[in-house]
Amino acid sequence: MSRKMRMTQVDAIQDISPHMRRITLGGSDLNDFPIEQESAHVKAIFPQSKQGLPKLGLYLGAKKWMRSYTVRAFDQHTKKLTIDFAVNDHHGLATHWASDAQVGDYLGISGPGPTKHTNLNAPWHLMAADITGLPALAAILEKLPKKAQGYAFIQIPHKADMQTIKSPKGIKIQWLINSDIHKNRLLEALSNISWQDGSPAIFIATQSAHMKTLKAYVKKQPNYQKAYTYASGYWKA
Ligand SMILES: Cc1cc2nc3c(=O)[nH]c(=O)nc-3n(C[C@H](O)[C@H](O)[C@H](O)COP(=O)(O)OP(=O)(O)OC[C@H]3O[C@@H](n4cnc5c(N)ncnc54)[C@H](O)[C@@H]3O)c2cc1C
Repeated sequence: MSRKMRMTQVDAIQDISPHMRRITLGGSDLNDFPIEQESAHVKAIFPQSKQGLPKLGLYLGAKKWMRSYTVRAFDQHTKKLTIDFAVNDHHGLATHWASDAQVGDYLGISGPGPTKHTNLNAPWHLMAADITGLPALAAILEKLPKKAQGYAFIQIPHKADMQTIKSPKGIKIQWLINSDIHKNRLLEALSNISWQDGSPAIFIATQSAHMKTLKAYVKKQPNYQKAYTYASGYWKA
């Protein structure tokens, strides 16, 4: 199903940590953007030249100009959409755009798709993400009920990339500092927890090969349920 495409403009830019740039988008096309879609992803559509407008619509080669990004927040009163861009040392269309962004720059948005990790009342939660999955993980933590129990493991390049996230007391958040993006510290962390009673709701969003290893691990654990699991490769090395 094709999703609505919207033209937006950069309204504000904030470096929330050394490797995370928060960009808030505005514009009248967001007036009917759906609410409560935090954790879902949109396709960000980038301009083909620095001064140009993003080309919206479905045409041959359109995918080259699109990347997936998470709805970190949408303010239903101001109609502003917030996206957190990981700015690592890699070179890519999206990262370059975010690093050079200026207030007033244009960005196309298609979507959003469905929200992730919908079983908010699961007996317990197991979440693992790298910095690209952090915006979704943080948005999910903010939605969990107060009584929620479980673990959230977040791999980030530097201690200064830790964020304050509003989350239930019963969720133990562990930050794993690792500047080598090819190393998977999430697996070690996950295999050190004691598996709880009841089927966990599982959220995994990280580099594709790391995601596959984590998924293979959780699948072998007691009470694993595919229906309660979201595991997605957020980028490919
Ligand atoms: C559902 C979904 C939601 C996502 N949400 C977010 C989000 O909210 N914030 C966010 O920052 N990212 C998010 N991502 C990841 C983002 O889409 C990718 O990192 C994307 O490839 C970045 O595009 P690029 O143009 O910078 O690099 P590309 O042009 O895609 O890739 C260029 C090179 O950089 C490498 N590369 C790509 N991404 C990274 C990275 N993060 N670290 C190191 N090397 C990389 C690639 O292997 C390639 O060699 C999400 C992905 C998915 C699937």
